[in-house]
Amino acid sequence: RNGFRKETFVLSVDVGTTSIRCHVYDKAAKIRGSCARKMTLMYPEPGRVELDPEELWREFVVVVKGAVNDSGLQMSQMEALGISTQRATFTNWNRKTGEPFHNFISWQDLRAADLVRSWNSSFTMGAVHSVMKLLHFLTRQKRFLAASLVVFSTQHVSLRLAWMLHNCPQVLSQAVREGNCCFGTIDTWLLYKLTKGKNRPSYTVCDGVSNFLCFFLKMCWSGFLCSLLSLPLSIFPIVAVLCSSVPFLQMADQQAAMFGECCFDTGDVKITMGTGTFMDINTGNKPHTSIAGLYPLVGWKIGSEVVYVAEGNAADTGTAIKWAQELELFSDVRETEAMATSVEDSDGVCFVPSFSGLQAPLNDPGACASFMGLKPSTNKNHLVRAILESVAFRNKQLYDTMLRETCIPITKIRADGGVCTNDFIMQLTTNLLGQSISRPTHFDMSSLGAAFVAGLGVGG
Ligand code: ADP
Repeated sequence: RNGFRKETFVLSVDVGTTSIRCHVYDKAAKIRGSCARKMTLMYPEPGRVELDPEELWREFVVVVKGAVNDSGLQMSQMEALGISTQRATFTNWNRKTGEPFHNFISWQDLRAADLVRSWNSSFTMGAVHSVMKLLHFLTRQKRFLAASLVVFSTQHVSLRLAWMLHNCPQVLSQAVREGNCCFGTIDTWLLYKLTKGKNRPSYTVCDGVSNFLCFFLKMCWSGFLCSLLSLPLSIFPIVAVLCSSVPFLQMADQQAAMFGECCFDTGDVKITMGTGTFMDINTGNKPHTSIAGLYPLVGWKIGSEVVYVAEGNAADTGTAIKWAQELELFSDVRETEAMATSVEDSDGVCFVPSFSGLQAPLNDPGACASFMGLKPSTNKNHLVRAILESVAFRNKQLYDTMLRETCIPITKIRADGGVCTNDFIMQLTTNLLGQSISRPTHFDMSSLGAAFVAGLGVGG
């Protein structure tokens, strides 16, 4: 197209949970240069997971420069920058000085667990759910029934932010009172830094539901939820819809991966298996309301067309495999496949992958991770096989939920993420789903998706 001249390139950065990666793409979506850095996760107390915002920004700059250097090209040849980020990790900073008041609170952080429990069992939530049930009874609208089942989770920003504002240092509460506090997820923070704080920070709406505060159907913050949790609306950025008129194109990681996988048609599904599993289905131009706990999300908006996705997730995929590695069941994750196939079956052992509870369709935040059916004959290979099988079983559970809840015929399935390099998991998933699944040769799908959108943004 016009504007995407010959010999221009697109940069794309993916801020994952464990690493930050940048690639330079040419017009044929071929990678011309790359740079990756590990993210330093901090664990100041058990259950707390943080990231330093300034370090994140420094690493962002390092990987961007590193990828351009690696490509042997010049920064001036870079036509656009796409960014995909992990979701629901946030910080607050001073609007005037740009100084963060505290570290990023990761989506994995459990500091608000008690608050989540007390809100979910509170009279107020009970009353909200009763009203929703009544509305469902009167109107037969499925969305009211779904809303009557919604519970808070530590993965949502909402109660972690409420915790932070109630336990914050004096300077933060003063800045909130004076209107000098900016709240932002990683995308907001990077945009603020890239524009040197000149623009009022904006926030990409596709991340909305994972934050649980953004009422994405109206593309605005939920006044009701903010007043329920005493969150000041003044700290929130402008909600921007992902579209081709913003200078830096940002997407949440799963939506970006969906775009990178070319899941453009209704019924297209992608399964990302990394630290956790995220299964997303393209539900077309309508958001899908789920009773079993699939989240409706804005996928992307290109021109005037909004595409929605419904998402189910399993929090512990790579985490369970890494845990087994730390227990020294194996030294390299690549050994797991051979270990699993060296035995006929798991000897009746089942593993429940729930270090962080069980998500849809079980929705049990208190579920404990466990091995069941251990026998004196059980050996390491059986344990590893049971862990790998559990990943495929969760895939099957999510897939069945998706079919049942959306009633959309599934047209194609694509897989990506580090765990999808495991042939045992992929074959078992394929057998259980009874559908073929394609694996890309390029595994950084979030990055590729953000690059595609950035390329479209500059007319490529
Ligand atoms: P994230 O983007 O969430 O950080 P990745 O997509 O990079 O995660 O995937 C990393 C995870 O993939 C790690 O937990 C690692 O243990 C797991 N992994 C990588 N290769 C394999 C393999 N061959 N078998 C099983 N797990 C694997």
